[in-house]
Amino acid sequence: LADLGSRLRGALSSVDSASEDEINSMVKNICTALLESDVNIKLVVKLRDNIKAKVKSELKENETSANKRKKLQKIIYDELCGLVDSHEEPPKPKKISQTKSQASTKVINGKKTKVVKSTGANSHIIMLVGLQGAGKTTSCTKLAVWYKKRGYKVGLVCADTFRAGAFDQLKQNAIKSNIPFYGNYHLTDPVQIAHMGVSTFKAEKFDIIIVDTSGRHRQEQSLFDEMVQISEMIKPTQTIMVMDGSIGQAAEPQAKAFKESSDFGSIILTKMDGHAKGGGAISAVAATHTPIVFIGTGEHVNDFETFKPTTFISKLLGIGDIQSLIEHVQSLDLQNDENHKQTMDNIKEGKFTLRDLQNQMNNFLKMGPLTNIASMIPGLSNIMSQVGEEETSKKIKNMIYIMDSMTQKELDSDGRIFTKEPSRIIRIAQGSGCSAAEIEMVLQQHRMMGSMAKSAMAASGGAPGGLPGN
Ligand code: GDP
Ligand code: MG
Repeated sequence: LADLGSRLRGALSSVDSASEDEINSMVKNICTALLESDVNIKLVVKLRDNIKAKVKSELKENETSANKRKKLQKIIYDELCGLVDSHEEPPKPKKISQTKSQASTKVINGKKTKVVKSTGANSHIIMLVGLQGAGKTTSCTKLAVWYKKRGYKVGLVCADTFRAGAFDQLKQNAIKSNIPFYGNYHLTDPVQIAHMGVSTFKAEKFDIIIVDTSGRHRQEQSLFDEMVQISEMIKPTQTIMVMDGSIGQAAEPQAKAFKESSDFGSIILTKMDGHAKGGGAISAVAATHTPIVFIGTGEHVNDFETFKPTTFISKLLGIGDIQSLIEHVQSLDLQNDENHKQTMDNIKEGKFTLRDLQNQMNNFLKMGPLTNIASMIPGLSNIMSQVGEEETSKKIKNMIYIMDSMTQKELDSDGRIFTKEPSRIIRIAQGSGCSAAEIEMVLQQHRMMGSMAKSAMAASGGAPGGLPGN
């Protein structure tokens, strides 16, 4: 991802006067970067034509270069989003575990009689398929935890009898995350195990039952046969293909092969941390017309996000993504945290005080791996890609020290107080043991996030928060 991203960013920032020559060479560079990141050539050609057509119709001769650059960025951004956008969201199954059978009293034959109406709802069964090592077992638990956090009663079934230790792996993950699981050390027939597991959880009215299957090394026929048999037995509501996001061009034939035998309805793309190029994934989505619904961004169970085309592209282009930031913060159990509530209310109103920044920074530290979080914050994503995890963590802690040295009045301000009275910066530098430049950086960070909050509200969903000028 970093590779493609930095090339796209490079192409965009090479535009200065936005002359025709410059634009042509930018488009060419973007296309080359996409092709070399394994995006299918047909898609790239289409993208190129779309960009050129939009440039022609939207950029006006007499506009300032700055304006042209802004429009160009928006055009590129929209086109890239279009490549990966399927307009799909993760399904929200019915919570059958919580539906009480509805009892009412009716008068039948002159007598008051209690009538119990069965809701008749079924468990939502999800089956995961994919090659060995794609990340199925890991994603199973991630998916289970994702739904559990949203109030679902979720069970895991291990139907992988091919790989030694498969059940133990799932079991350990499940226990760690406190998810009920089903497996069997003695049976060798995955179809039978899948059936037994699903029946058990169904009987206990689980909302969602996730079935892990085995993967083979290559696209062997026996794998597909087994997959079809399991599928016929348990009749999944939803089949998800788990695909390694770093496999490049191989993604497309692989996705097609799976599509023929399992007709999966969505994709979980794993290993989108690290240096996955991600381009192959774009092609796979386009080739199978199947949406990516989740992405895995690390080995930890919380390294899991819904796939958002805008986020994906924002990351590629190094633009922070306020929407996923909000979502990520909301997914933490911060509901009872007053500071947090205030900040969310402020953001919703397009406001963002220094105290909000302080709250957010404090929350980030609670949130685990910083790489993931930093990539959502404008500005930080760039720092992060330059200096790495440890350094960023130090930077964030520094920012918190700095804000700890601010007065209540300063924290509740929009930051302009520092421009009016620069002596405050010196005072904070002394109090926090940081340099004035570091304090400037906090203020700058705050301004950036503040303007993101404003534009996020203005756009209210959809469009990205303010695209940074170069
Ligand atoms: P399976 O064979 O499809 O069940 O794959 P596993 O779930 O066993 O995963 C294979 C390896 O990939 C394990 O070492 C996982 O920790 C790792 N893995 C899975 N998902 C991710 C991810 O999103 N990021 C990273 N970095 N590693 C992952
Ligand atoms: Mg597995």
